[in-house]
Amino acid sequence: MTGAGRGIPGRLGLCALALLGSRCIISHGAATPSGVPSTPTTSLAATPPGFQRIVAPSGLPIPATAGVARPAGAPGNLRVLDWAGFKAAVSWTFDDSQPSHLAHYAELQAVGVPLTFYVNPGHDPGPYETAWTQAIKDGHELGNHSFHHCHADLKGCLFGAPPATLGEEIDLCSTYLTAHTPQTGVWTAASPFGDEGYDGADAQRFLVNRGVRGGTIGPNDHTDPFNLPTHLASTGETAARFNQMTDGTRQDGKWIIFLIHTIQPTDAVWYNPVSISELTGAMTHAKALPDVWTDAVVAIASYWRGQKLLSSTTPVTTGSNSTWTWTLPPHFPPGKFLRVTVAGGTLAQRGAPIPWNEHGYYEVALDAGALTLSP
Ligand SMILES: [Zn+2]
Repeated sequence: MTGAGRGIPGRLGLCALALLGSRCIISHGAATPSGVPSTPTTSLAATPPGFQRIVAPSGLPIPATAGVARPAGAPGNLRVLDWAGFKAAVSWTFDDSQPSHLAHYAELQAVGVPLTFYVNPGHDPGPYETAWTQAIKDGHELGNHSFHHCHADLKGCLFGAPPATLGEEIDLCSTYLTAHTPQTGVWTAASPFGDEGYDGADAQRFLVNRGVRGGTIGPNDHTDPFNLPTHLASTGETAARFNQMTDGTRQDGKWIIFLIHTIQPTDAVWYNPVSISELTGAMTHAKALPDVWTDAVVAIASYWRGQKLLSSTTPVTTGSNSTWTWTLPPHFPPGKFLRVTVAGGTLAQRGAPIPWNEHGYYEVALDAGALTLSP
């Protein structure tokens, strides 16, 4: 997901009537303006039922804090807000394009948060295309879990026979997804079997790669972006246990990526089945926390990597102006933003001042590659 032209229907409506407003209601975080100022898109009418949340034109959800005065001190102290101004972040990922994911899709969709499905087109892709296309239209992300689900040595494949090289095997999946669904790019991946032999090849192709090791991710920490940790749901895991993980992550101010395999009830129990009611109960719990950002992996990973990039950049001072410049890493999705504060002064990009947002931040376009602070 992300990027322009993701196939979200009806880019008109309420937001088009409120171009000067600071918010609009869209189906998820996919409004991805690439310039400054940004332009709201998408309409309420196009929002799938049960999938409404308030997001800014940047595509980032809007925190509950409001009425924050613009900083009026001396120019300086640029700080990137963790998790777009939320206390913590949560992603829900689903591996292997399992039949039970699609059998329970309506219930997952009804929770109303963007999800990431790591799919293997090598598993009987034909009948799945309609379903995955709908998932994209609903605002979810499809990620690369390879085509045939092999180990990194291309042995032990779950679905059919692989091509000659690991690179081809991975690329087959991405090519398939962009050719057969409305998703225009594939930005994130997950290693089949959690095989770390994928990490190097995925680093050449994606923004991040998710592994299966346990753990969470902190702002500006040194987590390997190509072996992101996860919480692997165990057989029969309860909502109470998932919630414990979510609440602990919130307490720590970190990002947790849940990994779900089979969802019950189903005849197709592949691995570590969990009940749909426990799962959606836990997803609803996380969604209801006002200071927790639930989103697809690509959305939160872009913020996490973008924050690290800008936070580690030293500004160049010319007269009374300070300018930060950066180059986005390869495979970084377009149209992504950071939220920052300063002690005072005027921030500008591409020669235009950035408006202060009363929710407590300036929104910085990562595509611009530069940011200037002036008195
Ligand atoms: Zn898998």
